[in-house]
Amino acid sequence: MMFAVANQKGGVGKTTTSVNLAASLAATKRRVLLVDLDPQGNATTGSGINKNDLEHSVLDVLLADIPAIDAILTGSGGYDVLPANGDLTAAEIELVDMPNKEQRLRQALQTLRSRYDAVVIDCAPSLSMLTLNALVAAEAVIIPMQCEYYALEGLAALTQTIDRVRETANPTLHIAGILRTMYDPRNTLATDVSAELFSHFGDVVLNTVIPRNVRLAEAPAHGVPALQYDKNSRGAMAYLALATELLRREKLSKKKED
Ligand code: ADP
Ligand code: MG
Repeated sequence: MMFAVANQKGGVGKTTTSVNLAASLAATKRRVLLVDLDPQGNATTGSGINKNDLEHSVLDVLLADIPAIDAILTGSGGYDVLPANGDLTAAEIELVDMPNKEQRLRQALQTLRSRYDAVVIDCAPSLSMLTLNALVAAEAVIIPMQCEYYALEGLAALTQTIDRVRETANPTLHIAGILRTMYDPRNTLATDVSAELFSHFGDVVLNTVIPRNVRLAEAPAHGVPALQYDKNSRGAMAYLALATELLRREKLSKKKED
């Protein structure tokens, strides 16, 4: 199972989702790898790894053919991390002239397939070459979104990109689900946008909702997922529920394929 967590909008909860989903999957005794594909390196830091003290990062794996296993570190949340930092901004430019430039991550992760039960890829807020690498490598895309006024606007560009990747490099790529994040059911705008989401996307919208929860915002400063920071928090619980829902859905969609 390999998920890309993508939305070209910043601040919608991609990294929070990546880190806490990885921790939740690890809590179900699965062997999990979190791939940080954002030069901001927030998933790396949020997993308790110092991004300024990396011997190798995902950049070396993408550009220099360093085996992924040599760059992987153990995070604080019971899962492994292929870390990133600001050096990754160079990847955009460097990748352009490389052969199989959209396939680099897929190829790098191929050798790791038997080591992990689940891989979660945290994407940067853009539809860049790095995000394309994530979409080519992944089996399914999780799209976190905040139910705000302009939230639906960017979704078309993202779903078109997913369609294009499906038609070319990755025919079985699908949307694992649209995830409503920082959700406040008392906010009528949020409930309106939520209703609109369901009418556009139907059951592609996940039933699990991530509430706005201060523990989710605090945990990264402590270098741990919410499950380690405050396991009874609403945020930690919501991400456990997300893991359960995703596992159930992916099992169903596999059954349909067979
Ligand atoms: P992205 O990776 O899409 O840019 P982040 O996951 O970094 O988004 O989230 C943006 C900000 O919102 C961060 O400061 C994060 O701590 C906070 N945040 C994300 N999800 C929640 C939530 N459910 N409740 C409260 N704060 C959240
Ligand atoms: Mg992020």
